[in-house]
Amino acid sequence: MLALRRRLAAVSRRWREARLFAHAMTRPYAPVVAHLIPIRRCNLACTYCNEFDDHSPPVPLSLLQARVDRLAALGVRAITLSGGEPLLHPHIAEIVAHIRGRGLLASLITNGYLLSQRLIEALNDAGLDYLQLSVDNLAPDGVSMKSWRPLQPKLRWLSRQARFAVNVNLVLGIGSPRPEDALTIAEQARALGFHVTVGLAHDGWGRLRPLTDRERAVHARLTALRRASFADFASYGQFQQNLIAGRPNDWHCPAGALYLYVCERGLVHYCSQQRGRPGIPLENYSLEDCRREYHRTKPCAPFCTISCVHQTAMLDQLRRQPLQAFERWFSNSDGCTRLPVGVRVLKALFLPPSLGGKRPRLTRFFTRLALRALGLR
Ligand code: SF4
Ligand code: SF4
Repeated sequence: MLALRRRLAAVSRRWREARLFAHAMTRPYAPVVAHLIPIRRCNLACTYCNEFDDHSPPVPLSLLQARVDRLAALGVRAITLSGGEPLLHPHIAEIVAHIRGRGLLASLITNGYLLSQRLIEALNDAGLDYLQLSVDNLAPDGVSMKSWRPLQPKLRWLSRQARFAVNVNLVLGIGSPRPEDALTIAEQARALGFHVTVGLAHDGWGRLRPLTDRERAVHARLTALRRASFADFASYGQFQQNLIAGRPNDWHCPAGALYLYVCERGLVHYCSQQRGRPGIPLENYSLEDCRREYHRTKPCAPFCTISCVHQTAMLDQLRRQPLQAFERWFSNSDGCTRLPVGVRVLKALFLPPSLGGKRPRLTRFFTRLALRALGLR
């Protein structure tokens, strides 16, 4: 029964992901993804973190619901709740349900310590799509308390109960005394049926903190273990390889337009590391603001590690230069481009044929059908 319910949830999720994709391909500048902060307080205190405090109250539910409504009205298709620790919010499941009630993808980033069987069930019922567990080491050390071992019972509950997708995100570059822990955690997380991604730690400006030789070796081994999927490419792809090699990335940061970070005070910022820019209240934020911020060059971009913005930038590149984007992301070391099946379908339906040719009549029919079904025609 659980397997069937998981499958149904996955179908619904894929459908809304397809809508997000189609939306991003057809509406330049409009926001696609947003981070929303329901509470700034955290139950832990990792030394490298600048995104939490130990005292802020939860944002009232009605205010958060109004912010979700405003983001949906601007065109956002996916909202991620983070913090602080979002599970400290007493109405977290209601917020998720409100996001889903608007037809959007709902994700949550947590350290996992506050998960209980009851809360997992509430998040199932609310329709959560993705839960990202952020883990740094096997046991707490002087740098991070986001640890794998204290989570053991919660991990088993998630594995047995969760209808939403669970992703374990390992962050390298935090100065951990045991970066090799990440390999053990990745192996155990996969055995529990979770997806695994790797992030790079950033300084207070969003730029890479240089990796040690041991961290580089761990990153290389984790990358070699990766399972190819579209979501993997932002985490493991060219962005990270360049940064680790000390090379700047040549990309256009679409923060403030395709990606919005809405803090606990309801202000729109580029991202968690560029708070105050532009710092406009969400209720006054308009598509005109998005257009302006889209065109603004961000000086922090070349060494930026903020992977959620990299992902939206990939969508933007796909819209502007589809064929070059595919070649860049999906080429192997021999220079051959091998697209995952889902990407091949989307390419056939939505992208112009190469060499100025015409789409076959049957494909044109399915494209029209898909656009209508996605509510875009
Ligand atoms: S658990 Fe997350 S939000 Fe809390 S202090 Fe650690 S890194 Fe920061
Ligand atoms: S480049 Fe963009 S996402 Fe990265 S730190 Fe700067 S504003 Fe934030």
